[in-house]
Amino acid sequence: MSGRFHDFGFTPDQGVLELDPALAESAYLGIVDVIETADLRPRVDSEMLSGAGSLSEVIQYFRLPNGQIDADRLYGTLVETGFSSPDNPRFLLLSEDLRTEGTNFIFGFSVKEVGLSVQSLARFRRLPAEALRRTTRHIARHEYGHLLGLDKSSIKNLDTRGGLYEGHCANVCTMQQVMSVPETDALARTLSTKPLAGFCLDCVGSLRTLHN
Ligand SMILES: [Zn+2]
Ligand SMILES: [Zn+2]
Repeated sequence: MSGRFHDFGFTPDQGVLELDPALAESAYLGIVDVIETADLRPRVDSEMLSGAGSLSEVIQYFRLPNGQIDADRLYGTLVETGFSSPDNPRFLLLSEDLRTEGTNFIFGFSVKEVGLSVQSLARFRRLPAEALRRTTRHIARHEYGHLLGLDKSSIKNLDTRGGLYEGHCANVCTMQQVMSVPETDALARTLSTKPLAGFCLDCVGSLRTLHN
């Protein structure tokens, strides 16, 4: 760890803490893993760390009649209010199920241009406790990798399957795309014993080139 400071914010909602307080730590550590792998020095906004209650209140404004959270409107509001920026990324971890126009649900979204990632554990909550913690850390690593610029412009061995695989890594790597809960669980297990937060050497190289 020799690089410059990297400021970031992280908040779980109240439901995540109720599901298992260790999940917030898993996600937080996942974010820190990526920042350190990029040779940056993580500096967390400590006010955001304790914002679970207020995040849960804010989310209520975006609740749809079927109980899901409208991710399009949530995203629009967060962007309008300047909640995050590329130099000061923010990661929200929700227990609530998300949907966008034209889908039944989404696992979450990450937008590098505005430095924002919102992820939901709703679809993962039936995993056994240990698997859920491991998967949560993996998801945070993958999504924060996107926020730090890992995409089709920087990933060297790109997945060529197209569609939702676009902008992902074809190596055994944290930046591999997975499409389901069992696939995510399996990849998180495979990568959990690997160094460098599970990133392949190509992606580690890209992270460091992008930020140093
Ligand atoms: Zn991805
Ligand atoms: Zn990779």
